[in-house]
Amino acid sequence: MDKYINAIKKRVCSICADSDEDGFCTLTDYEKCAVEIFLPKIVNIIHESNYKENINLLYQELKEKVCAECKARTQNGNCYLRRDSNCSLDRYFSLIVDTIQRVDAGFMF
Ligand code: SF4
Ligand code: SF4
Repeated sequence: MDKYINAIKKRVCSICADSDEDGFCTLTDYEKCAVEIFLPKIVNIIHESNYKENINLLYQELKEKVCAECKARTQNGNCYLRRDSNCSLDRYFSLIVDTIQRVDAGFMF
């Protein structure tokens, strides 16, 4: 999992709205990042998905499976973080998928 974590830090955290100028996360212990919490699950979903070539369907699958376990989602399926563009998984979804697929292809970050 370390290779994925390193790659996400270099490609996603470095440009994330919630990181400082050196790419370090500024969220507190009370503001958990879904990418950080669910990265192993995100990687597994991407590996096992039937929608690897269809980014829209992959997005739906990933959000259904990850959001279902996320504490930020309410019982009616709403999420205040997504609504306010504050979910990093939602904001950087395409870049996250691309990064994981590049690691799988052998890229080193
Ligand atoms: S919020 Fe998530 S993606 Fe953004 S810098 Fe923090 S750990 Fe990285
Ligand atoms: S959109 Fe909301 S419920 Fe889904 S992973 Fe992000 S913070 Fe969690």
